[in-house]
Amino acid sequence: MQRRKVTLKLYPNAAQAARLEAWTRLHCELYNAALEERIDAWHKARKSISYYEQQNALPQIKAARPEFVELGSHALQQTLRRLDLAFQSFFRRVKAGQTPGFPRFKAAKRFSGFTYPDPAGWKLMQHGGRGATLRIGSGDTALSVRARGLHRFGDQAKPNDITLTRRNDQWFVSVTLRVPESACARQRAADMRRGVDFGINDWATFDDGRTIDNPRWLREELPRLAALQRQRGRKKKGSLRFKRLGRRIARLHDRIGNLRRDFVHRETTKLVRQCAVLATEQLAPKTMSRSARGKGEAPGRRVRQKAGLNREILSAGFGMAHPMLAYKAEEAGTRLHLSHTRQIKPSQRCSACWELAPKTLAQRMHVCPHCGHVMQRDQNSALVVLIDAHNTQDTPGTGVAARPKPRPRQRGKSKSVTRETPTTTAQAV
Ligand SMILES: [Zn+2]
Repeated sequence: MQRRKVTLKLYPNAAQAARLEAWTRLHCELYNAALEERIDAWHKARKSISYYEQQNALPQIKAARPEFVELGSHALQQTLRRLDLAFQSFFRRVKAGQTPGFPRFKAAKRFSGFTYPDPAGWKLMQHGGRGATLRIGSGDTALSVRARGLHRFGDQAKPNDITLTRRNDQWFVSVTLRVPESACARQRAADMRRGVDFGINDWATFDDGRTIDNPRWLREELPRLAALQRQRGRKKKGSLRFKRLGRRIARLHDRIGNLRRDFVHRETTKLVRQCAVLATEQLAPKTMSRSARGKGEAPGRRVRQKAGLNREILSAGFGMAHPMLAYKAEEAGTRLHLSHTRQIKPSQRCSACWELAPKTLAQRMHVCPHCGHVMQRDQNSALVVLIDAHNTQDTPGTGVAARPKPRPRQRGKSKSVTRETPTTTAQAV
C-alpha cells in the first residue's frame, strides 16, 4: 500500500458553508482554550499539561457544551494534537538553541481548518467522473457536501483521513488515499533516454535540442498582480477597500500558483511517460535566484535583468519539478539520474571532450576552447548529464538518489546511485 494525497474542491451551499464555518470556530476555540490551560497551569503551579490530560478532559467539555459533540471525538483530539505538536516543536527548537516564537492564540478567521485522522465520522463517495460527495456525521444531522476533483487511482484507492481547509473563502478537502502499488504504477509510452536542462529562457531543453517553452501566462498575470498591489498601496491600511483589494490579490496569487502547479504536473508526467532514463542536474533554486546585487566591493552586474530572471525562475516551478519527477519516475519505472552539480558542472563542461569550458550566464553558446565543439549552451548541459547518467550506470559515481530521504521501507538497503524500479510498461492492463 502506498499513500497518496489528493485535494478536492468543496461546493457547500450557504447553510452548509455556515456550518463548516461554525465547526472551524469551535475547533479554534478548543485550540485556544487548550493553549490557555497550558499557560495558566504553568504560571500558577509551574505544572506542564500533557496532551493526554487534555484529551481526557474532552468528554467533560462535550457534556458542558453539546455543540462540540457533532464535531467527532477523533477530530477534536486531532486539534489538541496539533497544539501538542506546536509545543513539541517549540521546545525542540529551544533545546537546539534557537529562539522560536511561543505557540500563539489563533483568530477564528485565520484558523485554517480541521482534520479527521481516520476513516471514522465521514464518508467520501466518488461518483465516477461526475465528482464526489463528502458526508460528515450521521443521521439527520449529517452534512453532505458536493465535491469536485478527480484522481487516477480508481476504485482501489481507499480514503484514510481527511483535512478540511478554507482558503480565500473557498473550501477544500485534502484526502489521504491508501492505494495498492499496482494502481500507482504509470504506463510508459516510450523508452527514450533523455538528458534535460531546466532553465531560464526555456523551461526545459533536451539533449537533442528540443525545448519546452516557459509558460507565457505568467507574463500576462504578473502585471495585473503589480497593478493590484499598486492600487492597494493607495488605499488606507485596514480600510474596507484595502481589505477588498487584499482578497483580490490573494485570489490572483492562488490562480498563478494553480496554473504553475498544473503546468509542472503536466510536463513532468509527459517526461516520465516517454523516458526510460531521465537525467538532469541537482538543482538549488536558492543559489540560482540569489540576488545579482552582489556584496560590498564586488557589486554584481545586470542587476535589473537578474531581478526579472529571479521571478521567472521561481515562477517556472523549479522547486516543484524535482520532487514531482522523483515520485513519478518511480511510478513509471523510469531511471531518474541527478548529476552532482559541483562535481560535474554540466553548464561548464564540454559534452564532446569532457573538459571544462567556463562561461558566464550571458554566454548562450558553448564553444569549447579544447576541441572546438560548438553547441547551444543548455543543450550541451543536457547532453553532459545524459552522458554522466550512462557513465554511472553501475559504478558509484556522482549521481545521487532523487529522493532526499529514503522512505522507511527502503532504509537499510545499500544506497544506490540512481533510483531504478521495475518497469511497468510490460504489464499492459
Ligand atoms: Zn570540448
